[in-house]
Amino acid sequence: MNLFRRHPIALTLLALVVISAFDPLPALVDPATGAPPADADLTHPLAYVVAAPFSDVLDALTFLSLDRARALLAAWVVGLAAFGALRPGPPRRRVARALLGPIALLALGGAAATLPRSVPRLVTTDSALTVIDYHAHTSASHDGRRGWTALDLARWHAAQGFEASYVTDHNVLFDQRVQQPIPLLPGVEWSVAGQHVVALADTLPIDRGRFDRDTRSLLALFGELHRHGALSIASLPEYWRAHWDDVDEFVAAGLDGFEIVNCAPKALAFPDARRRQVLALAAAHDLLVVGASDNHGWGKVTCVWNLVVSGVRGYRSNQVVARPLALAQGEWLPWTAAYTQPWLMFRSLSWSERCSWITWILVVFIYRAVPRRAGDAGGLGILARSLEVFRLRWPGKPMTL
Ligand SMILES: [Zn+2]
Repeated sequence: MNLFRRHPIALTLLALVVISAFDPLPALVDPATGAPPADADLTHPLAYVVAAPFSDVLDALTFLSLDRARALLAAWVVGLAAFGALRPGPPRRRVARALLGPIALLALGGAAATLPRSVPRLVTTDSALTVIDYHAHTSASHDGRRGWTALDLARWHAAQGFEASYVTDHNVLFDQRVQQPIPLLPGVEWSVAGQHVVALADTLPIDRGRFDRDTRSLLALFGELHRHGALSIASLPEYWRAHWDDVDEFVAAGLDGFEIVNCAPKALAFPDARRRQVLALAAAHDLLVVGASDNHGWGKVTCVWNLVVSGVRGYRSNQVVARPLALAQGEWLPWTAAYTQPWLMFRSLSWSERCSWITWILVVFIYRAVPRRAGDAGGLGILARSLEVFRLRWPGKPMTL
């Protein structure tokens, strides 16, 4: 008990890493079946695993729906400030500690959005499958990250195992030719009558005003895109939030498919029950169902990939594979995010990531547990001496990490 009072954070983390191993989540899941995909796996580069506590926290912050991000931030800022302020010490130290936690949390949020880092990569075991993204943006979009070029986007995709991606800027046709490191395919995301429609193909400009008046006018867009040789996909969260009662009419008017997972914070809250309804509708009409990174230049990781089967059309032509942590966003109420998001993160760890977490926790624990002699400086010297102390205490049994 005394040990827990002195090292509450290290021991709590250690318990979470160990206990969550008894209820693990798969690395990937196919939302249509709820099972891990047979032909794809997620690989973690060595640098990602070595820095697992950092990598996993940044991934978990990236895969938060908007409401859950707000709730998690509010709860943790208050909690960390209180934890810092209530620990014993002189007032100035308490104030510094109360500020340190919230500042560190905000810095982690900024790092999740912008810091270059090692990322997980999807690999497939079936060479007949192509890994693609149907929906992503560059700085040509009004809400795209400034300076986020098509080449940046291609590199972002390639690092995560994508073999091609459509570029679908808001109401701007993509006309660049990018073949390396992966081919970028032309598309566009039209905003009409409260709905975003991703058009896939080297299409022509449209007179957006004709389709923007109301739902009836919007329905005419699908036929217009067909005349241009483009497929039309209804994007999330718009068809869920603004046109849920119109999806049957979308299908009747010639829509080619639906997004069922979209990694944008506004779209991550899409509930699984609604996803099942869309999957049933798409299966009944042999329509495409896709996942969309909807990348705008922020964040280093995607929550979803698509496995395209060549030579097949319609519902069976595309398999969506997603990170369970992202899919869970629609299943948990926003106010629970402060504890459900960390718990889901720990359940998502692979064995190598768990080993990395435990190693880091022990390193910090030993560093802090060994009393310093007067005049000792901080830093790695203390850690080295700490290990020396262990060796002295248990002769013949050198401590190994
Ligand atoms: Zn978009």
